[in-house]
Amino acid sequence: MLTDVIIVGAGLSGLTAALELQKAGKKVVVLEAEDKPGGRVSTEKVDGFLLDKGFQVMLTAYPETQKYLDYRKLRLRQFIPGAILLKEGTKHKVADPRRVPSLFISTLLSPAGTFSDKMKLLWLSQRLQSKPIVDIFKQEEKPTMEVLREEYGFSRKLIDNFLQPFMAGIFLETELQTSRRMFDFTLKMFIEGYAALPEMGMEEIPRQLSKQLGEGVIHYKSKVKEVKEGTVRLTSGQEWSAPAILLATEACGLTNDYLPEVKTNCSSITTFYFSADKTPVKGPFLVLNTKPNRFVNHLCVPSELSRAYAPGSKSLISVSVIGIVEQNNQEAIKHIKQELKPYFGQQVQDWHHIKNIKIRYALPDQRHVQQQLADSSICLSPGLYVCGDHLLNGSINGAMRSGAFAAEVIIRKEGKV
Ligand SMILES: Cc1cc2nc3c(=O)[nH]c(=O)nc-3n(C[C@H](O)[C@H](O)[C@H](O)COP(=O)(O)OP(=O)(O)OC[C@H]3O[C@@H](n4cnc5c(N)ncnc54)[C@H](O)[C@@H]3O)c2cc1C
Repeated sequence: MLTDVIIVGAGLSGLTAALELQKAGKKVVVLEAEDKPGGRVSTEKVDGFLLDKGFQVMLTAYPETQKYLDYRKLRLRQFIPGAILLKEGTKHKVADPRRVPSLFISTLLSPAGTFSDKMKLLWLSQRLQSKPIVDIFKQEEKPTMEVLREEYGFSRKLIDNFLQPFMAGIFLETELQTSRRMFDFTLKMFIEGYAALPEMGMEEIPRQLSKQLGEGVIHYKSKVKEVKEGTVRLTSGQEWSAPAILLATEACGLTNDYLPEVKTNCSSITTFYFSADKTPVKGPFLVLNTKPNRFVNHLCVPSELSRAYAPGSKSLISVSVIGIVEQNNQEAIKHIKQELKPYFGQQVQDWHHIKNIKIRYALPDQRHVQQQLADSSICLSPGLYVCGDHLLNGSINGAMRSGAFAAEVIIRKEGKV
């Protein structure tokens, strides 16, 4: 079968590329191995609970989501711009005092850093607000941890009790070796908007994009086995041909034949889901565990943001552990409950384990990240193109931006219709 452009993969990068190519009048076919769109952004329904594929959030300030998504239709539910810190048996609420004045005193008195740290954070927030994203990504790449200590001069107290667990939950790595560009960019996005979940789960994001493409464009359960000279062969044996083929799979889904230098190092995460009769956290808070050598990095109660996440009056608790948990389930659950009991009391024993989700390839290695791409990074050979978060940075914004770039290059090279 023949079309103008074949896109392999219906993750956020592939979907965004498809939208832009369609706008330019190209006939597009998207071949997706799974039975739904979204790739790493998906939601599963289990016994009436909505389980996102690993805890993740959309930052409303992302330029690409602002461009392609209708936030109103997603019915976004926002987190408080702050967190609850778990430290030595006590819970401390901290928040951006400019946006949550009611938590001003609690933030000031919290163990999250010294008074001087709090002033430095305010100064950094103001600086990042006036710094264009393109300038953030022009900065010399250094590990985030080095910049926090040496350039921003934050104390050990602020790093250990707030920044390290917070950023580890975003970068999905505990050493904070991720490029400082990503730290500055992410902090800017947090300051300029909110972390949010769509009312019906993260999967609503790719679903909204796929709806814009119209019926029959995405072919599900169509796993690509081989790509050769303008032809794509599926595992079923079916073939599709096109003058342009765009590989929009995760980096680990690409074979070395296509991308000899692709970054396949990655970070991993395991998210445990529990149900409870009573919520352990009231309100839309992210909870960070500050314990050194902790097992649990962060948790939240999605049903406190949207009632649709849990049936009836139940609560859904999402507990994230960085990396792949190799212990058996019983041991891991015991470990989680032991660690959280000092904060939430005896009720943790009544949490009912629903499921855990292990994601080996969660984010690409982010020691080097970027915001712009040369045509040569997208066009691998005549007629063969690539996009995906691994080309720019591991985020919803990075994935969508790479897809939009790829579409631009294809239109330029293959011509408009
Ligand atoms: C647990 C977790 C937490 C995250 N947290 C955040 C967060 O809080 N904020 C944020 O902005 N970002 C977050 N991210 C990152 C973000 O989700 C990703 O960067 C983004 O979804 C990547 O999109 P993509 O299109 O590049 O790749 P993918 O979503 O991986 O899409 C690739 C698609 O290709 C398909 N495919 C692969 N091989 C084949 C084949 N042979 N044939 C056909 N189809 C194939 C796959 O099925 C998939 O649908 C998180 C990711 C994870 C996993």
